[in-house]
Amino acid sequence: MSKNEALFLRAQKTTPGGVNSPVRAFRQVGGVPRFVKRAQGAYFWDADDKKYIDCIGSWGPMIVGHAHPAVVKAVQDAAVNSFSYGAPTEGEIVMAERICQLVPSIEQVRLVSSGTEATMSALRLARGFTGRDLIIKFEGCYHGHADSLLVKAGSGMLTFADSTQNAPSSGGVPQDLVKHTLVLPYNDVEALELAFKQNAGKIAALIVEPIAGNMNLIQPSATFVKAMRDLTTKEGAVLIYDEVMTGFRVALGGAQSLHGVQPDLTCLGKVMGGGMPMAAFGGRSDIMNKLAPIGNVYQAGTLSGNPLAVAAGLANLDIITQPGFYECLGTQTKKFVNGLAERAKQAGVTFSVDSVGGMFGLYFSEKIPTSYADVTASDIEAFKKFFHLMLDNGVYLAPSAYEAGFISIAHDDAVLAEMFSAAEKSFAALA
Ligand code: PLP
Repeated sequence: MSKNEALFLRAQKTTPGGVNSPVRAFRQVGGVPRFVKRAQGAYFWDADDKKYIDCIGSWGPMIVGHAHPAVVKAVQDAAVNSFSYGAPTEGEIVMAERICQLVPSIEQVRLVSSGTEATMSALRLARGFTGRDLIIKFEGCYHGHADSLLVKAGSGMLTFADSTQNAPSSGGVPQDLVKHTLVLPYNDVEALELAFKQNAGKIAALIVEPIAGNMNLIQPSATFVKAMRDLTTKEGAVLIYDEVMTGFRVALGGAQSLHGVQPDLTCLGKVMGGGMPMAAFGGRSDIMNKLAPIGNVYQAGTLSGNPLAVAAGLANLDIITQPGFYECLGTQTKKFVNGLAERAKQAGVTFSVDSVGGMFGLYFSEKIPTSYADVTASDIEAFKKFFHLMLDNGVYLAPSAYEAGFISIAHDDAVLAEMFSAAEKSFAALA
């Protein structure tokens, strides 16, 4: 028995499914999850000392590669001063100032510890600000695991649950709670217009993944982007860009900088913490001022603005704000997906690809999907086989056809060459 197998059996005795977050369990692709021992740059090593090129990067955060020396040093330096105070620090101010400077739609920001907290709090705030209950979300978008957002949700919910019913996609979520959530198809302007028309004066917020990454990678059309901004403005609803995944990932200013849109509120996470538990929500100060201790919308956190997370996040920001960072990241990611597409074509495998900044999508379908329905119609069986072939050849892709992938700045040409060699063998075996 391999060490990974032994650890998986042992883990299942004390942890449900053997993992602390469902998508890690290889449920869609089958097989044994890899237990990570250590990671460096673009690579990690599992319990059996097998080396992999990491194309997930902790599901997004590790944009500068694993264990970057500057980030490690920042955390070490912070750790000697203790790990948490429950009182404010200057580092939190610096982090807030940098976020407001890099994402101009954010006038004020509050730090939290996870993306789920960020979206949950942003919605409560939007409801408190507007005095309305209804929210709009889109099929296949995942915004964390708060009750009212687990309706036709993406990511693990798309992998595990039967999300075909307009009902909670998780047990334990009362129908009563999700009745305030309208779920619409992504990229469907007509459905959006109709929803606002039928619910005039009742919609508190529209929350969206501005580039979706939890139903594989799906980009919004320009008309959809415009309609979301125009309709929310016209109806007095709060436009929430959930940039937990796309923030500092698709561009320094996030998807909103690519779309030329100023959302009312933005949620951040993943990259901003450099791999430490940190996230944030922020936006217009008239809305943010509704938060306690100024306003009556309550939100709090024992570990919010944790000094180690802030230290890691600031060191990470210093690296990604260096000139040329995103040009290089985008180029490497494009080279990677185009190289894969070429090799699939040579092998005669039906395959398409897309990428934005350091985020990519691989699809076993003729065309790049534009909706949740397109993604679920792709060849999932081919993906499963490809995933295992790549894994055997030392490349760790997301273990689900419904997840985007991530490239770091450490994925240089030598790493890409290794990935192409693995892909050549994998596509040939698949054909
Ligand atoms: N929003 C988006 C777009 C995400 O991709 C995720 C997580 O993948 C979340 C929110 C939830 O973040 P967390 O897992 O940190 O709670």
